[in-house]
Amino acid sequence: MKEMKIIGLTGGIGSGKTTLAKWFAEKNIPVYNSDDEAKKLINENPEIIEKLSQLFGKETYKKGVYNSKFVASQVFNDKELLEKLNQIVHPVVFKDFDDWVQNQKAPFLVKEAAILFESGSYKDCDLIISVVADQEIRIQRVLNRDGSSAEEIRKRMKTQWKDEQRIEFSDYVIPNNLGLEELREEFERVYNELLKRFESS
Ligand code: ATP
Repeated sequence: MKEMKIIGLTGGIGSGKTTLAKWFAEKNIPVYNSDDEAKKLINENPEIIEKLSQLFGKETYKKGVYNSKFVASQVFNDKELLEKLNQIVHPVVFKDFDDWVQNQKAPFLVKEAAILFESGSYKDCDLIISVVADQEIRIQRVLNRDGSSAEEIRKRMKTQWKDEQRIEFSDYVIPNNLGLEELREEFERVYNELLKRFESS
């Protein structure tokens, strides 16, 4: 059986990953959203629930719902604890992704993840796309999108890689400082290149 090609799609908070992922999905390219799936697994996977409850105590789940604010406050400024959290969650998400891949059929698949590099999951990808935009533009977009404060957004940015780091390890870089029309043009260009590259392989 031909091995499925996996495209990693990454970028910092508010960079435009989900917008691009939606356009891939509209072209019938299967997309795995690692952040969404990780959230689901943290709430539903018995192994994760047990291990996180052991690590962080009773407050980890409030009435069965993961208390992300509490856990974030615990790991903030504690790299070792954050590492332990990741060691519990990431392997389960990686396995879930592998199972998902087995059920897909397409010229290539997209794995969307904000922390593709930070989590190590870039290693499973055949090729990586980063979407990049200036920090202040990203903050403004997220402010318009949801109820986060600028301070919260900056805090999350600090835990993520910088665009310069992502660019260094990416095969394609999609700039997103302009409007959605310009982003769409970049997307079509990269999409067509990917099709050429993988349809015949
Ligand atoms: P997160 O990591 O926070 O999930 P993301 O990288 O998935 O963010 P999107 O959700 O795609 O980013 O984009 C952030 C917001 O900015 C969305 O509301 C989206 O519609 C908007 N947006 C993205 N690109 C542009 C653009 N070029 N012009 C205007 N708005 C945009």
